[in-house]
Amino acid sequence: SKEELQAFKDIPAETIDGKRFGMYGNIGTPAEAAAVLESGGEGIGLFRSEFLFMDRAAMPSEEEQYAAYRAVLETMSGKPVIVRTLDVGGDKEIPYLPIGSEFNPFLGWRAIRYCLSDTALFKVQLRALLRASAHGDLRIMFPMISGEQEILDAKRLLDEARSELEAEGIAAAAGMPIGIMIEVPSAALVSDRLARHVDFFSIGTNDLIQYTLAADRMNEKVSYLYDSQHLAVLRLIRMVCENARKFNVHVGMCGEMAGDPQLVEILIGLGVEEFSMSAEQIPLVKKSVRSLSEEAARIRMTQTLE
Ligand code: PEP
Ligand code: MG
Repeated sequence: SKEELQAFKDIPAETIDGKRFGMYGNIGTPAEAAAVLESGGEGIGLFRSEFLFMDRAAMPSEEEQYAAYRAVLETMSGKPVIVRTLDVGGDKEIPYLPIGSEFNPFLGWRAIRYCLSDTALFKVQLRALLRASAHGDLRIMFPMISGEQEILDAKRLLDEARSELEAEGIAAAAGMPIGIMIEVPSAALVSDRLARHVDFFSIGTNDLIQYTLAADRMNEKVSYLYDSQHLAVLRLIRMVCENARKFNVHVGMCGEMAGDPQLVEILIGLGVEEFSMSAEQIPLVKKSVRSLSEEAARIRMTQTLE
């Protein structure tokens, strides 16, 4: 019942053997942040910033973006807020950007690939994020990373934006954590290398599953192949978690899989430490965490993956 789930709001997501897991919310607009708090979320694990760019005739200005990021940070009053930089392309169309139609939009000019080629647009977003970072615990996350060079390029642009702001006398938080989405199989496979450059990983299973199994996440004719529990997917998730632990990088998950109470045991068994999902799933996933043993989940997954 609703009352029963409400009871989970203020208690930690802790297993019966005393291991604690982070519970975060996914949002698309600043207004959704309040619901994450009401559901007992400990922060925002994914703010899909592309929603600020959609359904409009022109790109949002630096001021508009700054106001939106700041609003989320203020609602969350000191709790962590992970803002993902513009994830355009694929199924997310933004009419005023020159992406056009592609034969394989999910394999095309999207997300970080687009941003690294439209550096003027990207810099506006990075400046807005850096300015907002003075108002809370903001973390930046880059989407669709497929290898090391993209992280280096994105971080260089972030440093440039920071220096520009400094020269203008505008403060940005020092040491803001930087993370990447792990949603391309190549990124999972070289996650030991990628870990050197970032503070956290967030596994995006929506895309990771489609790319691993070569099954379009939008195409019903192949949806029978889109299996979140395919051994290949589970092995990749485990590899990412192991590399994260080895290199002291936090590892969370923000794809749909993270909000499924029936899959939490599998994910904990694979080594996922933080879960980010839509607000209404938070009490359900918490309830699930509180019913299981981390050690038993680990043992079971080790056997399953053999
Ligand atoms: C994902 O790919 O799992 C993800 C969280 O990103 P999106 O669903 O926005 O592509
Ligand atoms: Mg994605």
